Amino acid sequence: MIALKTHSELEILEANAHLLAEILLEVALQAKPGVSTGELDRLAERRIRQARAEPAFKGYRGFPATLCASLNEEIVHGIPSPRRVLKDGDLLSLDLGLRREGYYADAAVTVGVGEVSPQAERLMRVTWEALRAAIHSAKIGRHVSDLSHAIEQTVRAGSFYVVREFVGHGIGRELHEEPQIPNFGPPGVGTVLREGMVLCPEPMVKADDRPVRLKEDGWTAVTASGAWAAHFEEMVAITADGPKVLTEWIGEELWRTRM
Ligand code: MG
Repeated sequence: MIALKTHSELEILEANAHLLAEILLEVALQAKPGVSTGELDRLAERRIRQARAEPAFKGYRGFPATLCASLNEEIVHGIPSPRRVLKDGDLLSLDLGLRREGYYADAAVTVGVGEVSPQAERLMRVTWEALRAAIHSAKIGRHVSDLSHAIEQTVRAGSFYVVREFVGHGIGRELHEEPQIPNFGPPGVGTVLREGMVLCPEPMVKADDRPVRLKEDGWTAVTASGAWAAHFEEMVAITADGPKVLTEWIGEELWRTRM
């Protein structure tokens, strides 16, 4: 059962998404050499609580932090730590969620720390373009699998590989609602998009096609080969006027800021 949001629910979701985008952008801009992921986590939690919201991930199935901070070969769900100090050339994926007035917000960006390699830069750009392609296909009457297909096609055209083990999702009163949005698949099948759906497509992309494994901490998903990975996620509402990005295209904003 997919929850279609009312006008007043969409207003809350959009306000929460704006707040999240603002905080995630601030955190991402602090990702500099010498800063630890633990410091970024503290900043994210402080900002969320200042806004009278609560972290969505802390305590979720036992996750110990506010922010997911995944470095280089880490794909998602990296646990921040004062001992993980960022270095020039690192690729850092930041995933952040919050809850306020009974509704969730969730988004992710990948940033280069200092100067990154051309290959890492391209990995980020292709992942971002995959998300943008998914968002552009998020229209009434199209299918959830059209988003999946757009992601897979974009990533394949960029000669990278999608992560198949994790999916995007709907969002609202729950952090993860139906439908699931895989990062691959044929177009035009399954659930049809309707006005009032709010979705979080989230391409996770890696530089080779080897499997994914879980680190000993039980959370961090890494590429088995050590190949690097990137991740972007925005919240998009399906409206009569087309896709509406509630998180304000934070990925795009970050590109502009960094260029
Ligand atoms: Mg998510």
